[in-house]
Amino acid sequence: MTGNEIRARFLKFFADRGHTVVPSSGIIPKNDPTLMFTNAGMNQFKDCFLGMEKREYSRACSSQKCVRAGGKHNDLENVGRTARHHTFFEMLGNFSFGDYFKKEAIAYAWEFLTRDLGLDKNRLYVSVYKEDDEAADIWHLQEGVPRERIFRFGEKDNFWSMGDTGPCGPCSEIFYDQGPEAGCGSPECTVGCDCDRYMEIWNNVFMQFDRSSDGVLTPLPRPSVDTGMGLERISAVMQGVITNYDTDLMQGIIRHVERLSGKKYGANERDDVSMRVIADHSRATTFLICDGALPSNEGRGYVLRRIMRRAARHAKMLGFAEPMLYHTVDAVRDMMGDAYPELLEREAYIKKVVLAEEQRFAETLDRGLAILNDEVASLRAAGKNVIPGDTLFKLYDTYGFPTDLTADIVESEGFTIDEAGFEACMEKQREQAREHWKGSGEEGIAQVFKELHNCGVRSTFVGYDEMSAYGPVV
Ligand code: ATP
Ligand code: MG
Ligand code: MG
Ligand code: MG
Repeated sequence: MTGNEIRARFLKFFADRGHTVVPSSGIIPKNDPTLMFTNAGMNQFKDCFLGMEKREYSRACSSQKCVRAGGKHNDLENVGRTARHHTFFEMLGNFSFGDYFKKEAIAYAWEFLTRDLGLDKNRLYVSVYKEDDEAADIWHLQEGVPRERIFRFGEKDNFWSMGDTGPCGPCSEIFYDQGPEAGCGSPECTVGCDCDRYMEIWNNVFMQFDRSSDGVLTPLPRPSVDTGMGLERISAVMQGVITNYDTDLMQGIIRHVERLSGKKYGANERDDVSMRVIADHSRATTFLICDGALPSNEGRGYVLRRIMRRAARHAKMLGFAEPMLYHTVDAVRDMMGDAYPELLEREAYIKKVVLAEEQRFAETLDRGLAILNDEVASLRAAGKNVIPGDTLFKLYDTYGFPTDLTADIVESEGFTIDEAGFEACMEKQREQAREHWKGSGEEGIAQVFKELHNCGVRSTFVGYDEMSAYGPVV
């Protein structure tokens, strides 16, 4: 079953059970300054859960574009380290806004996995919050899951809250045993281990309480359900592969990289790593730009830039001398354009932005790498293995190397980086800039803008229209 088929099956399963299929919201959250990127299916329904917004449905399902590469959830460092974490992924979810609760949610999840998808019950495990006897009983008495396959975990893993106050509640997760060959081999390895063996596939959150500022939990009059299942992970399970990168969703892109590079995936581990990074990062890049992000030196734009530069460096390692990432936009479009038609609409614009950033970085990548190689060699000769802050700063400031890119490059040499030293250099530069600014007489210009603002003059962002030769893109 392909990833696209699984997505469609999931949405149909819940539509058949009275859920309204709601399109994914964009990755750049609207009206939510607390969130860097959309990181879960529930984000777009936040106000429904809080009771601040009423819609004409009380049950919904979606396949949500998510990025976890900055902000509260950051999986950037997990990409490549585990077989199951991506920067960009799709979250399948079903939601109840004060409609059904634990009994129905658990019944739906179990029916979908074991009947619709036909998963082997002997490979499935579940977890509940340590005090949630109700959920444990439903799993056991209603669905027949043996008690020994039901794990109880604490707050960190199995209690969800939106913030320090407000709606919160226990959650229940479903895990699939991928077999010993996927595991860490430790005799203690079991559900909850950080390795890939017992892979978390689905989280069911039961919004049950309202937490007040003094920590008191009051039961909500109409409790809700929010669930999320990673499409790439359930695809790996259905396709019998133990890494997400062997699913059709990722292989479609890797095959494109094979064609472009003339190299074969599986022939050599170093190249495989680069192909996986490019596959992951090209999806994040394509969708982030599609949804309105632009590479820059701060905030969301800087996360995007870091992702793109890391991918560009891996392209170089694969032997590409010319920009190539913008070609991977084609592969992402081919794989996902049916489900996300905005990719087809904005394709030309996305490629243009990717190519421009690749060209910009190409000018300094080679020189920066040469400097870094020299530095590694001389530090090693001196018996050291930490890249100092001033070198990190020079690479950042003059050659456009984000520190995590430098860290990534030197890691295989057994080197780490002096992040604190880098921060000190950054602070020094900021101070110098402030000094310069003070003496430049430009405060007057800032004052002019303030006065214009006070008179009601506003600037309008026209970047998309102006940048695209193909008309407005959003
Ligand atoms: P994990 O413990 O594996 O990091 P999580 O507990 O952080 O996952 P949730 O916030 O519960 O994840 O999200 C719901 C589901 O989304 C997970 O069960 C998983 O299937 C999927 N998921 C979460 N993070 C990622 C990711 N970085 N890449 C791919 N899928 C993910
Ligand atoms: Mg996580
Ligand atoms: Mg988890
Ligand atoms: Mg989870």
